[in-house]
Amino acid sequence: MQKLIVASGNKGKLKEITAILGDVYEVVSMKDAGFDGDVEETGSTFYENALIKAKTVSEALCEDVLADDSGLSVEVLGGAPGVYSARYAGDHGNDKLNRDLLIKNLNGEANRRAKFISSVVLYKKDGTIIDGYGETTGVILTEEQGTNGFGYDCIFKSDDLGISFGLASDEEKNKVSHRYRAICNLRSKL
Ligand code: IMP
Repeated sequence: MQKLIVASGNKGKLKEITAILGDVYEVVSMKDAGFDGDVEETGSTFYENALIKAKTVSEALCEDVLADDSGLSVEVLGGAPGVYSARYAGDHGNDKLNRDLLIKNLNGEANRRAKFISSVVLYKKDGTIIDGYGETTGVILTEEQGTNGFGYDCIFKSDDLGISFGLASDEEKNKVSHRYRAICNLRSKL
């Protein structure tokens, strides 16, 4: 089976990408492939950050590398936390603090519409770039529901599923997630 290196250290993302692509690729984390560094996400869009991650790791390892950059976009907050989703409550990337801050910032707000966005980039060792984009919509809950998933999953009630991603099984989330849709979009271009 062909190997595919994923430029991420996020266990939740790696698990999902393995479930989505595991039938066609042996998915390997960048760390297991020998890249132990940190890639600074200096872009201002999900696409720019995905490209920075995929290109940096691909050039270091001389391999084809896939990266996902994703986050939550809340309508009434003008798209925030957006590319800052992982560090909404500070540089430490603490999921619980991020969720608490978002719930606080939406306190009393009637419009709780939001969407997860994923931009994926496959950077090939010959410099070819193939990208994919996906979204999934829902509302931000006033309290956590469920313990599955990662990040904002337990406060995001999916329009497609009618329940929070925190209550959804891996299989349910992977059928409708932004990441699944972005990877399908990329696969259609391969
Ligand atoms: P990235 O590593 O810069 O792409 O950060 C993505 C951040 O967005 C994560 O740390 C989560 O906070 C959030 N995020 C992205 N995708 C998901 C998801 O599927 N569920 C929950 N949170 C997510």
